[in-house]
Amino acid sequence: MSDLSTLVTATLQTLARIAADFSPAVFASSLAAEDMVLTDMILKAKLPIGIFSLETGRLHQETLAVLGKIKQRYGHDVTLYRPQPEAVAQYVEQNGLNAFYNSVEMRRECCRIRKVEPLGRALAGNKAWVTGQRRAQSTTRAELHVQEEDTAHAMTKFNPLADWSEEDVWAYIRANDVPYNALHDQGYPSIGCEPCTRAVQPGEDVRAGRWWWENPDSKECGLHMVDGKLIRIKSVAA
Ligand code: SF4
Repeated sequence: MSDLSTLVTATLQTLARIAADFSPAVFASSLAAEDMVLTDMILKAKLPIGIFSLETGRLHQETLAVLGKIKQRYGHDVTLYRPQPEAVAQYVEQNGLNAFYNSVEMRRECCRIRKVEPLGRALAGNKAWVTGQRRAQSTTRAELHVQEEDTAHAMTKFNPLADWSEEDVWAYIRANDVPYNALHDQGYPSIGCEPCTRAVQPGEDVRAGRWWWENPDSKECGLHMVDGKLIRIKSVAA
């Protein structure tokens, strides 16, 4: 297991460098465990990195409750970006509220409307963005770097937790009493929209609960691109 204090020091240095050299920069929080580690670091160090979340309109109550926990603990309001109401209404009217179960195309269109388009608005005008992605989350993230060029958004992208393991994340959360999403205690290692996420069994792939009805090769939401290509989410066995 990696030395947590070494990881924490390196991550804080990365965040400080982003704040100093890539301003304005924003952190895209999905309100999951990894994101809470970065939230804790950014807010405690009072770093000028904006924190936003994509409020898709389909999140669990437990996920939305994390916003209140952040406010209570740090006195900070996470900025929310929501989908365009007309686009959502048109999709629902033409296809049905839960049409994403019907085909990969319908699912990607829902993700495009509820996540990808709002992400573009959230990132506009910034020099860099920060994510909570970790290399160990996925076999196809073996090449995930702490710093990457996001050509799709024409900015630099940082993954400060790239070297962290899941154990490191939880060790930090426990050591610092960081608030987290209650779903993590109910069998949800990875959390997305409510209708597209289910709990997993012990030993099951950590992302098996995301878009579980699809072939693993199609599991992508369109948020993470490197060199203009979508990074597919194909998990390693837990
Ligand atoms: S995760 Fe599901 S509900 Fe959320 S935007 Fe994608 S398809 Fe729509």
